[in-house]
Amino acid sequence: MTDQSRTHRTLSRHLTSEGVVVWSRCACGRLRMDLVPHAAGRPISAGPCARCHALR
Ligand SMILES: [Zn+2]
Repeated sequence: MTDQSRTHRTLSRHLTSEGVVVWSRCACGRLRMDLVPHAAGRPISAGPCARCHALR
Protein backbone atom coordinates (compact mmCIF):
# COMPACT_ATOMS: atom_id res chain seq x y z
CA MET A 1 0.00 0.00 0.00
CA THR A 2 1.36 3.39 -0.90
CA ASP A 3 0.74 6.60 0.96
CA GLN A 4 1.22 9.30 -1.60
CA SER A 5 0.36 12.17 0.71
CA ARG A 6 3.71 11.81 2.47
CA THR A 7 7.22 11.10 1.33
CA HIS A 8 7.73 8.64 4.13
CA ARG A 9 6.10 7.60 7.35
CA THR A 10 7.52 6.73 10.70
CA LEU A 11 7.12 3.10 11.62
CA SER A 12 8.71 2.97 15.05
CA ARG A 13 11.13 4.62 17.42
CA HIS A 14 13.57 2.83 19.66
CA LEU A 15 15.44 4.38 22.53
CA THR A 16 19.00 3.09 22.63
CA SER A 17 22.13 3.99 24.55
CA GLU A 18 23.37 5.95 21.56
CA GLY A 19 20.21 7.81 20.76
CA VAL A 20 16.81 7.38 19.25
CA VAL A 21 16.63 5.06 16.30
CA VAL A 22 13.78 5.98 13.99
CA TRP A 23 12.55 3.53 11.40
CA SER A 24 10.49 4.91 8.56
CA ARG A 25 9.22 3.65 5.26
CA CYS A 26 9.50 5.71 2.15
CA ALA A 27 6.65 6.07 -0.32
CA CYS A 28 8.56 3.79 -2.68
CA GLY A 29 8.61 1.05 -0.08
CA ARG A 30 12.19 1.40 1.07
CA LEU A 31 12.97 1.05 4.73
CA ARG A 32 15.00 3.83 6.24
CA MET A 33 16.80 4.13 9.55
CA ASP A 34 17.82 7.34 11.25
CA LEU A 35 19.81 7.70 14.44
CA VAL A 36 19.23 10.84 16.46
CA PRO A 37 21.95 11.05 19.11
CA HIS A 38 21.15 12.16 22.65
CA ALA A 39 24.11 14.49 22.76
CA ALA A 40 24.22 17.61 20.68
CA GLY A 41 25.17 16.75 17.16
CA ARG A 42 23.93 15.98 13.75
CA PRO A 43 21.43 13.20 13.23
CA ILE A 44 22.90 10.27 11.39
CA SER A 45 20.63 9.26 8.58
CA ALA A 46 20.74 7.30 5.41
CA GLY A 47 20.01 10.49 3.53
CA PRO A 48 17.16 11.26 1.18
CA CYS A 49 15.82 8.46 -0.90
CA ALA A 50 17.59 8.75 -4.23
CA ARG A 51 14.79 7.03 -6.07
CA CYS A 52 12.05 9.34 -4.86
CA HIS A 53 14.10 12.49 -5.23
CA ALA A 54 14.77 11.51 -8.79
CA LEU A 55 11.06 11.19 -9.44
CA ARG A 56 10.03 14.49 -7.94
ZN1 LIG B 1 11.76 6.45 -1.74
